[in-house]
Amino acid sequence: MTNNFYIYNSLVRKKERFEPLNPPFVGLYACGPTVYGDAHLGHARQAITFDVLYRYLQYLGYRVRYVRNITDVGHLENDADEGEDKILKKARLESLEPMEVVQHYMNRYHNNMQELNILQPSIEPRASGHIIEQQELIRKIMNAGYAYEVNGSVYFDVIRYSKTNHYGILSGRKIEDLLSNTRTLEGQSEKRNVLDFALWKKADPTHIMRWSSEWGEGYPGWHLECSAMSTKYLGMQFDIHGGGLDLLFPHHECEIAQNVAGYGHSSVRYWMHNNMITINGQKMGRSLGNFITLDAFFSGDHDMLDRSYTPMTIKFFILQAHYRSTLDFSNEALQASEKGLMRLLKATDELDSLKPGTSSTVNVDKLNSLCDKAMEDDLNTPVLIGHLFDGVKLINGLAEGRHTISEEDLMKLKALYHSYVYAVLGLTQSEVPDAGKGITGNLVEMILQLRTDAKANRDFDTADRIRDGLTSLGITVKDKKDGADWEIN
Ligand code: ZN
Repeated sequence: MTNNFYIYNSLVRKKERFEPLNPPFVGLYACGPTVYGDAHLGHARQAITFDVLYRYLQYLGYRVRYVRNITDVGHLENDADEGEDKILKKARLESLEPMEVVQHYMNRYHNNMQELNILQPSIEPRASGHIIEQQELIRKIMNAGYAYEVNGSVYFDVIRYSKTNHYGILSGRKIEDLLSNTRTLEGQSEKRNVLDFALWKKADPTHIMRWSSEWGEGYPGWHLECSAMSTKYLGMQFDIHGGGLDLLFPHHECEIAQNVAGYGHSSVRYWMHNNMITINGQKMGRSLGNFITLDAFFSGDHDMLDRSYTPMTIKFFILQAHYRSTLDFSNEALQASEKGLMRLLKATDELDSLKPGTSSTVNVDKLNSLCDKAMEDDLNTPVLIGHLFDGVKLINGLAEGRHTISEEDLMKLKALYHSYVYAVLGLTQSEVPDAGKGITGNLVEMILQLRTDAKANRDFDTADRIRDGLTSLGITVKDKKDGADWEIN
């Protein structure tokens, strides 16, 4: 199987033609969430990026095994080797079993993913379910001489490793710079070196999530799970490993070191990273406390939101930026995305009612090839969407009789929009305001506009009469900050 898909490989810092190790099979691993809180816009971006990749590879004809993990143990505060386990802390604060916290937020994460129409991965392994595999990898790394045990904890020996291997191969960081830039914090003294990272941590007496091991009772280090689970399900060498750019260092750098030390080689052909969402120019994240959850976007219940946004609007907003660019959140940008999305979806819907003529005045093949080229260029969704918008003008022209299209071209045009809009970008008609409501929708909008005008003129009697009239017809009107929403009961 051949393709012209070029993927940016973070390991070599350039685009490379995608050549899977064992076509038509593709192994794809993406780091999933640590489930101790609700998913926010940054989580949506990561999930959407790898969902589009997963969908696109299938569109190209590959059989993809997509593994996305759930981190439910071992991820400590500040991504460091000290501090409390994030899930354990939440459990303590809310008087819950740690696994209750995990189940609760995992369910909510899955709901959010479904709302965003993100495909479920082929396998969704959890760190707590792979303790044995992680312990085996620790043993391998120790046997190779790259890890040591202190007081019931096991640490990876970064200095020893970097004597014969390249620690920093992914991030481009240099050991000397890392050493001079990293302060030794209190409590880290049992490590031989400040750069060493935990493979296994001894559980103190109050630590609930604990497993027995030859080093005593403890729990695995955060980086270990992805090395152990990716190779378990995708083999010792596999095609693509992805995650957010914030995971590149230290998480993915440490993963490479673990694999090289334990298995004798690195396991990943292409490393892929999506960039961050920013809010007033600062990274949006839980640790910075400046995040907006997906549920807040869907309900509008947040100080920074003018109103609610549908999941498809959120998704389209994310797809309108290239995954390697930062994306700054703003209400204005979201509202522009919403308008664009509705235009695109309406035109896609309209394709089904177009009638072919005897010849074409539109060039569907050219549009098709431009769309293909955009995605082949490292999943350039904003360029793809730009071409799809150009096609919307053609579709509108066809609907208005300014263009004609042959039957064959019409079939191609439908296939193009169905493939890219629905199958590859994963957009749906379902959640767009007004979409599919047709003439009734337009009439209700018109009547509601009269009501808004009446309210602006302080003619509340007329406004109420209109609302009551609609209610009696089975149409519920809900007032919002900027006008009104409505639904047919
Ligand atoms: Zn990971």
